[in-house]
Amino acid sequence: MLLKLKQMVVEYGEKIVKEGLVVATWGNLSAREEDKDLFVITPSGLNYNTLSPEDIVAVDFAGNPIDNSKKPSVETPMHAAIYRARADVKAIIHTHSINASACAASRTEIPCIMEDIASMVGGPVKVAKYAPTGTQELAENVVAALEHRNAVILANHGVVTVGSCLEEAFKLSLMVEKTAEIFIKSKILGQPYSLNLSEVCRLKDFYVRCYGQEGKNRKEESGIA
Ligand code: 13P
Ligand code: ZN
Repeated sequence: MLLKLKQMVVEYGEKIVKEGLVVATWGNLSAREEDKDLFVITPSGLNYNTLSPEDIVAVDFAGNPIDNSKKPSVETPMHAAIYRARADVKAIIHTHSINASACAASRTEIPCIMEDIASMVGGPVKVAKYAPTGTQELAENVVAALEHRNAVILANHGVVTVGSCLEEAFKLSLMVEKTAEIFIKSKILGQPYSLNLSEVCRLKDFYVRCYGQEGKNRKEESGIA
């Protein structure tokens, strides 16, 4: 089971490089072992394209490595803090994607300007207070800014997305980057409009209960129109 999870981390590492969400060895990703207080995470400072499952490190929820001689990502405390705070989160992806990083550089949150991102994030992509890379302070600031939402910007650093699996966190990394680009471009045209809280709640509910093939079943079960 752990090996399968490690293989998936390698696979999604290749995907974030291919999509241009990270450059060189920056960024990191992890996935939680089902029903256990441990997760597997990328090693620090190694190239995604040369990673193999043996390089991926299993760590406990305190952030201590439990196998492997490789040093885990410097952001292991941040991943551990998110898993401890959010039982629903099974995967985390941290990238330094360009447009989201422009928001990080200017410490500007991405408001709910598009329906797709609003339904997936469940609110704006807020900016966590600045703290240096790899610190416990950064981990705490990220958890505080993330709350119940699924993406957060790290001031002067990058972005973190979370999901119920790597596929979901990966899709969200792409969506946050796309929305950051739209946000910046829409400012050239005028003042971007943000959806209000009740509109966002409705969209999130629709996404969770009705969207996609699984949503179809949930819709029938719940009896919603
Ligand atoms: P690691 O290579 O240690 O994961 O660090 C990359 C990074 O993005 C730090 O924030
Ligand atoms: Zn980083």
